[in-house]
Amino acid sequence: MTTTAAANPPIIDLRSDTVTRPTPAMLAAMQAAPVGDDVYEEDPTMRALEEAAAARFGLAAGLFCPSGTMTNQIAIKAHTEPLSEVICEQTAHVYLWEVGGIAFHSGASVALLPGQRGRLTAAQIEAAIRPENVHYPTTRLVCLENTHNRGGGSCYAWDDLQQIATLTKREGLALHLDGARIFNALVVTGQRSEDYGQLFDSISVCFSKGLGAPVGSVLLGSAAFIRKCRRIRKVMGGGMRQAGYLAAAGIYALENNIERLADDHRRAAQLADMLQQQAYVAEVLAPETNLIMFRLHDYVPAADFLAYLEQQGIRASSFGPQWIRFVTHLDVDDAGVERVQQALAAAPY
Ligand SMILES: *Cc1c(COP(=O)(O)O)cnc(C)c1O
Repeated sequence: MTTTAAANPPIIDLRSDTVTRPTPAMLAAMQAAPVGDDVYEEDPTMRALEEAAAARFGLAAGLFCPSGTMTNQIAIKAHTEPLSEVICEQTAHVYLWEVGGIAFHSGASVALLPGQRGRLTAAQIEAAIRPENVHYPTTRLVCLENTHNRGGGSCYAWDDLQQIATLTKREGLALHLDGARIFNALVVTGQRSEDYGQLFDSISVCFSKGLGAPVGSVLLGSAAFIRKCRRIRKVMGGGMRQAGYLAAAGIYALENNIERLADDHRRAAQLADMLQQQAYVAEVLAPETNLIMFRLHDYVPAADFLAYLEQQGIRASSFGPQWIRFVTHLDVDDAGVERVQQALAAAPY
């Protein structure tokens, strides 16, 4: 009998960095975790994760949630009230991919600004702040995203973040960071996580994207802010009991899976180079981290291209007309990149 392994090499899943599965070492750390009831705030592993994450970003307290959508939406609700307005980029995850949650949970309106690969400037934000007038909602909050997903994993320069934070402090606005992929940005720019707490009132950090944990994000902020957020998490049904098993995966990820993000970035650059050389590719956003966004020429139907990749055992996602996204992560190695390169070179277009 021939082995099926040779005939069916493993699927290379480039749809997202959320598709990673916990490694045996991470699972062992989860299994060994001491746990308690986290709604009673008696889970020692959860406490350790929330404290470690907060300390790492120079903030006082943390709150673990099942998803980044929940951490973002809780933060927005805690920073605003109905009749307020949130300023964000027009393709921000908090606006585009969180089911309209800002309206649903917070009853706030949203001012959308066009960014440069998702990045906003202090001048743009300043111009969008509402003057005092009975007709207008009250600007309360600015949300930034770093790295920016729809912007193709783009990162903010430190100076730009500082200028935005100076503005929001002066204007008495809260500043929230959707840092689902903040570690990718830190690894590339060399910025220090500890410095982020000086700029942002709240930060959401994800463990289940590039860091390889099965579940979870943490929301960071001041002790009083996180106390308020803990109540909002409870009303959303997000209070968890022996959640230390999940926290252990987050601790393992913080200790083991950050430096290696540089490998994902190197592989993303290799794939982008290869895409650049293909006649059927019209445009590639130069990858800054682990996301590669590229546009197919109009004569290549995007659905056919994805079906071709699927036949080769490669998965990717469509990101709007003719745009495709590849994401490198923990479960894509050099051999996988080589297989993708071969498939790209052999594509029948
Ligand atoms: C994935 C993602 C989120 C939300 O995370 P979930 O855990 O999937 O809810 C938030 N912001 C950005 C930028 C993301 O990429």
